[in-house]
Amino acid sequence: MGKVISVVNQKGGVGKTTTAVNLAAFLGKAGYDVLAVDIDPQGNTSSGLGINKREIEKSAYEMLLGEAEAKDAVVRTEFDNLSVIPSNINLAGAELELADVNDRSRVLLKSLAEIKKDYDFIILDCPPSLGLITVNALTASDSLLIPIQCEYYALEGLSQLMNTVRNVKKLFNPFLEIEGILLTMYDSRLNLTSQVVKEIKRYFPNKVYETAIPRNVRLSEAPSYGKPIFYYDKHSKGAKAYKEFTKEYLKRNGKSDKRS
Ligand code: ATP
Ligand code: MG
Repeated sequence: MGKVISVVNQKGGVGKTTTAVNLAAFLGKAGYDVLAVDIDPQGNTSSGLGINKREIEKSAYEMLLGEAEAKDAVVRTEFDNLSVIPSNINLAGAELELADVNDRSRVLLKSLAEIKKDYDFIILDCPPSLGLITVNALTASDSLLIPIQCEYYALEGLSQLMNTVRNVKKLFNPFLEIEGILLTMYDSRLNLTSQVVKEIKRYFPNKVYETAIPRNVRLSEAPSYGKPIFYYDKHSKGAKAYKEFTKEYLKRNGKSDKRS
């Protein structure tokens, strides 16, 4: 059975999509079968994996509203062992449309149930909000991964996120775990950074990954070519960091690169 991981932080632009895309791609490179699920109406994971959003037939929207089965929304990418359920702007209406649906927090859980066995890892790229879509993601997940940008307001809003996690655990998914905290856009030259890192480690003891992702312009260029960083510039600092992070991620899960 595949492990389902939500990449979540309701703060915008902290590196959720960059992390979802590149963790998914490196897990695929490591020989695991991976499905990325784009549940953000912005569709950045979809375009970052080379999907032309205008050509999407079935998307996360149809899946969530019960108009398509998950397996019919899956698109194979051109990258090793990596498929995606894409999304587009239609998904923006889903929160409202789901409001009338019975058991509306469990629709994603139910859709993914039928394809969980086909993958080793299913990675959900959440939108920057704590609305019904994110609640669905957390309800469907074994764990959550929180990217945090090392800046002054990094911890702002995290208590809200932790509140949502507690509520989801209580109401829908007692097994939900915090997988880990990934520091993104890290700049070790800044004094502020070490201060912020200290605070984050105090807030999440033993959860912060040793690998931090540095600010790297190649990481921000890769999505416009529709490629994960490995396939865009595997020698870049960003590629090395996400590769190292994936190794650490696998190790914490008692696994390793199947190909090395
Ligand atoms: P949103 O909340 O809008 O979904 P997000 O949390 O998914 O945003 P990303 O889209 O991954 O964040 O990143 C925000 C922007 O920062 C993007 O333009 C991305 O390319 C860039 N970016 C992310 N990580 C890095 C990095 N380590 N170095 C440089 N640029 C980065
Ligand atoms: Mg995003």
